Amino acid sequence: LTGCTSERGGGTGGGTDPGSTDAPAGFDAGARIGVALPDKTSENWVLAGDLFTQGLTDAGFEPDVQYAPASNTVAEQQNQIQAMVTSGAKVIVIGAKDGKQLSTQVEAARDAGAYVIAYDRLIENTEAVDYYVAFDNFKVGQLQGQALLDGLETLAGHEAPYNIELFSGSPDDANSAVFFNGAMEVLQPKIDDGTLVVGSGQTDIAQTATQGWLPENAQERMDGLLTSTYGDKELDGVLSPNDTLARAILTSVEQAGKKQPVVTGQDSEAESVRWIMEGRQFSTINKDTTLLVEQTIKMIGQLQAGEEVDVNDTEQYDNGVKVVPAYLLDPVIVTKENALEAYANVPSLLEIVKSFQ
Ligand code: BGC
Repeated sequence: LTGCTSERGGGTGGGTDPGSTDAPAGFDAGARIGVALPDKTSENWVLAGDLFTQGLTDAGFEPDVQYAPASNTVAEQQNQIQAMVTSGAKVIVIGAKDGKQLSTQVEAARDAGAYVIAYDRLIENTEAVDYYVAFDNFKVGQLQGQALLDGLETLAGHEAPYNIELFSGSPDDANSAVFFNGAMEVLQPKIDDGTLVVGSGQTDIAQTATQGWLPENAQERMDGLLTSTYGDKELDGVLSPNDTLARAILTSVEQAGKKQPVVTGQDSEAESVRWIMEGRQFSTINKDTTLLVEQTIKMIGQLQAGEEVDVNDTEQYDNGVKVVPAYLLDPVIVTKENALEAYANVPSLLEIVKSFQ
């Protein structure tokens, strides 16, 4: 053993790779657990912070939950994670602001003997990420692509071809490409066979990106597309990667006085569930944050006890340096049709749906 001792040095040959099938080394019950979340741009992040504070406390841990502030976000998140390492956190859960810019911090965490769990967003280009826990992002994209097609067939009011536009998320979020690729797996063949026409011709992810996942950026792009491309044409549908952006896109179209297109979403934000029930937004995805936080806290409990950590995917999430063992949960598509069943276990959303019945 070297002087650099680590409580997590379990497994064969004193290796420190908790991604191996050997059970990881445990740590003290009641340990400090850091949770670094990216921002408050979607309701799911706000809820996750509250659930982590509560759930970790209930499980006997000492939570330290931080959000990166709106300005200087990447650097501030780096500082927050470094401070968690210094304060002796045994596990650091990270919803990355920019998953490519955290290697120094997660390597410091590893060197200090802490585990790193990438939460919802992958951390890229480093060995020092132990686990990934998320909803199946590729499936989210496939469900969005399929919903767009289904919505067009029932609501466009005419036969194909349908005019559509494509939006994707922030380029600094590894999920953005996965969502987009999942959706394009469904949509590309329909673009190729002429069922769908991307009016602007912008089908490359770089052209469709929404920096920072900021609604104002999506609204501005939609405003521009309506002017450049839809002066004398109808826009039938829009692939939107999440609810915040869906509402921005719809707002742009409404302000332009154009016919309402079929628009997808994700996250089941309360306002979008209302818009779906009103028939303004077509679909969203239910990624129940409660389940994702529960799964993460379960992982932390397994790490604490020195047990093998549950994972169900060891193939999909190559971060450029390693395939990160992942636990992926199943996302659910939600439209007006199935909202009642889909939110059966989410009282706040169920209440909204019921108020429309
Ligand atoms: C999350 C989405 C969310 C988006 C913007 C993504 O990484 O997976 O659920 O809508 O970030 O916050």
